[in-house]
Amino acid sequence: MPKQASSKKDCTGICHLCLAGRPRIPFEDYSKNGVWQFSVQEEEPWQLRPEILRCPHDESFPETFFAIDPWHSFHLGEGRNLVANAVQLMLDFVDGDSVDQQLNLLYLDYKQYCKRNSNQVYALRFTKELFSLNKNDYPTGSWTKGNLTTSLVKWVAYFFRSKRNTFAEGSLHMKLADAAAAINDCFSKLYLAPLWVPRGEAYVIANLGFKYLELFMELAKQSREENRMLFLLNPKGHMLMHVFKTMLWEADLASEILNPLAMGVQLEEDLVGKTCRLVRHVTNVSSSFAMKRTFQRYRAAAFVAWAESKMVIRA
Ligand SMILES: [Zn+2]
Repeated sequence: MPKQASSKKDCTGICHLCLAGRPRIPFEDYSKNGVWQFSVQEEEPWQLRPEILRCPHDESFPETFFAIDPWHSFHLGEGRNLVANAVQLMLDFVDGDSVDQQLNLLYLDYKQYCKRNSNQVYALRFTKELFSLNKNDYPTGSWTKGNLTTSLVKWVAYFFRSKRNTFAEGSLHMKLADAAAAINDCFSKLYLAPLWVPRGEAYVIANLGFKYLELFMELAKQSREENRMLFLLNPKGHMLMHVFKTMLWEADLASEILNPLAMGVQLEEDLVGKTCRLVRHVTNVSSSFAMKRTFQRYRAAAFVAWAESKMVIRA
């Protein structure tokens, strides 16, 4: 993707499923009927077919073998973006002589919220660096723990709901209150839904997802009009659009649809993370060797688990 807005080089696209990011197909269009949807499956994203496609897959649309992970797209992408922008807007309401002091007060509020709701607190403090508030750039979250995003988004929704009657109609704060509530509701329902989601529930979840994305797009537009560097639109939002749009398309065709969280790697990342930490603790090796040992340990543990479940037969 060209880095400068004035670049003469066309963007080659940001998505393996459609032509979003190409000229006249803006990936920043988060609306439900964005033009990107008409370019799905139009062009294969690779020049050389990946070797892994020797595994069974949908021959009519091999790109879907590389499934989108909603958890990754939100909790380590779009959600961090939302929280960092929300914290920047919260500073409009919090007393304090400096941003550091304001962040300390917000952190206390977050901790109290977590305590009241039995959520684990993963952050030791709030800093400008955590939300990238100290640069002449858009705020963005810099943490790598998905669970921190979960508790922060819930707290953001609570914070803006509790101050809702003080916001001016149509203000960034009011729209953010609605956006945070929508995405919170969307993911709560998605996690509570079964593997095969009934059609009615799928529509509710996907529409909440789109409500969030469309509000985020409005927030980006309004911030620009108000000359505030907030709510940067990024490719992770586009990937979430694919998740929600696919839910709508599938629900139009079937009475039950596969819960997109089935394609998430949340559990695998935890599992590999634990093995990786163990490798680093018991051996003093190079990072490439540590990766190899991590993968070997993971495969050995997976084989034992699959053999016990009779999914593979010991030779
Ligand atoms: Zn796409």
